[in-house]
Amino acid sequence: MSVRQEFDAWATDGRDKGMEERHWHTAKHALARMPVEEGDTVLDLGTGSGYAPRALRETKGAGRAYGLDGSPEMARNATSYTDDPNVGFLVGDFDCLPFADDSVDHVFTMEAFYYASDPHHTLEEVARILRPGGTFYCAVNYYEENEASHAWQENISVEMTRWDREEYREAFREAGLYVAEQDTIPDLDIEIPDESEFPTENWETREAMVDRYRTWGTLLTVGVAP
Ligand code: SAH
Repeated sequence: MSVRQEFDAWATDGRDKGMEERHWHTAKHALARMPVEEGDTVLDLGTGSGYAPRALRETKGAGRAYGLDGSPEMARNATSYTDDPNVGFLVGDFDCLPFADDSVDHVFTMEAFYYASDPHHTLEEVARILRPGGTFYCAVNYYEENEASHAWQENISVEMTRWDREEYREAFREAGLYVAEQDTIPDLDIEIPDESEFPTENWETREAMVDRYRTWGTLLTVGVAP
């Protein structure tokens, strides 16, 4: 299945809103750290419901906030959740970003980057469109150290790239981005039931759930364009 088929189906089922709710737990911290200034142009790759462009407009006064998605249905839903004329959604692919060289101040992505068919090329695209000094905030829950995430590929028809922390840093550097910082953001919002409740529907042990959310959470790698 293509990105379009897979995620159009998700959007039609309303799963965009469910993802927003779950991903917001850690995405809000990554967004808060972005050095966006009033009037900046920002872009969210694989925007889903489009919460990130909305948040960057509302909390940081971004001038133009774009969300790009390969699924027209995701982009359609995202458009319907805002009437802000300075938030815009585009249908496009991570392979070829529809922006001019040096035209975007900051790029964000949450739980989407690893679907890129050629992630190295996508990083080059990000480096190309960022203005000098612009940043790329790349957040993922699916990565090597987060063992509970490994099984996710079984439920998704699109091939996913599973890098570890060092592979992210190395790939950023190869694409010409400086790695300004990298850390993991724990999900402190998700409720972890008492020991006696385990096993639950999704978790064998409490330890595994703590490992997934509190120990690993979201891997954030921040790149800066030279
Ligand atoms: N960032 C949102 C959505 C994550 S789901 C959130 O945090 O909730 C991943 C999104 O990336 C989907 O909407 C999917 O359509 C999009 N996507 C996946 N691969 C893509 C690609 N190659 N090009 C553009 N969008 C892609």
